[in-house]
Amino acid sequence: MSFKPTTYTLKCVHCGKVYTEDNHRLGCDEDHKPAFVRAQYGSRQLTVREGAEGMFRFGDWLPLCRPVKNTGYPVAYKSEGLAARLGLSDLWISFSGYWPERGADMRTCTFKELEAPPVLSRFTDDSRTVVVASAGNTARAFAEICSANDIPLLLVVNEVGFSNLWSTRPFSEKVRLVGVVGGADYFDAISLSGMIASLPGYVPEGGAKNVARRDGMGISVLAAVTEAGRIPDHYFQAVGSGTGGVSAWEAVQRLRADGRFGDVNMKLHLVQNHPFTPMTDAWTRRSRSLPQMTDDEARSLIAQINAFVLSNRRPPYAVVGGVFDALTETEGVMYSVTNQEAESAGKLFEDTEGIDLTPAAKVAVASLKQAVDKGLVQVDDMILLNITGGGEKRLFSEHKINYLKPHIEVKRSEISEETVKKIFA
Ligand SMILES: [Zn+2]
Repeated sequence: MSFKPTTYTLKCVHCGKVYTEDNHRLGCDEDHKPAFVRAQYGSRQLTVREGAEGMFRFGDWLPLCRPVKNTGYPVAYKSEGLAARLGLSDLWISFSGYWPERGADMRTCTFKELEAPPVLSRFTDDSRTVVVASAGNTARAFAEICSANDIPLLLVVNEVGFSNLWSTRPFSEKVRLVGVVGGADYFDAISLSGMIASLPGYVPEGGAKNVARRDGMGISVLAAVTEAGRIPDHYFQAVGSGTGGVSAWEAVQRLRADGRFGDVNMKLHLVQNHPFTPMTDAWTRRSRSLPQMTDDEARSLIAQINAFVLSNRRPPYAVVGGVFDALTETEGVMYSVTNQEAESAGKLFEDTEGIDLTPAAKVAVASLKQAVDKGLVQVDDMILLNITGGGEKRLFSEHKINYLKPHIEVKRSEISEETVKKIFA
């Protein structure tokens, strides 16, 4: 497999300052409101790197600095079964997961597997350990890729996520799991990981601020557009942080500048799982601020959703270049889907397309059904449905599964700078 580093610079989307040296930069140095930096790639036009490994075939538009073993990439195809049932003539599916007949071999069964390889290729300093906080899927993806490459990793995961930390392959000893227990949620995991990452020897992975993570997720769109030959009119995805939506929007800006795929301002259709729908609520009011919510209120709402990976309480919504801007620029729509709607949509997908879906992907299918019912898309529009995870049931029935057990447990009530120094410094 051939590897070629990518030429790129980073540009602040607020003040326009350009950084030519990268070194894991997560933001702009200028004193202004929070804003994303964005990668500007040397290649204005995308050339698929046929000999490259896994998703690195799209390496022209990924900030790649060193080789990282990876095998998966999303499979894009034109739907027949689901399209017919919904009465759509140009529905495309970008599928991240396990589906041997379609050639999909993302063993973590989540599109989060698209984030880890470019993040770890971009960050080249193995004397520091990358710290990742996650509700489960991101953690599983990083554990998989770090294990395959023997790269040190510290995962911080709240207890509902433990059952998500599995693999069909052995875990590397360099992958360590810190379990946050005692009624902790994703927000507790984020806050603990922030304290650990500020200690010497550790580095935060960076979340939505990391261009490698966003451009990795953008591959879902690149895979579909290079297959279909044009930019879709509409894009559907379930969102927790909303970063996937921002990534899709950024990918389309590059595709429009490429010039060969049309000049379509792809409309974002993003969906959350009722009753935890902070971004849907804010966008319905066209507000840049998320609704105020106490910790207890948030926890009680999150406890009621089946797609618990969609439970991010601090999404990059208001930040310049974030979800609000992406929705504004694309005249986007946000949806709210109940557990029941998601279940019946998941069944519809499995019956018509032939593969099982993760809870978040079921939520996305349900939002497409809502859009059709409400006339928000036209029969002949080109629609891209991002199936962010699937084939898990299938994978479990065909492979032996290993689970990662916590190496250290920290109680929610014990999270403090002092405890963290004692354990991790
Ligand atoms: Zn700036």
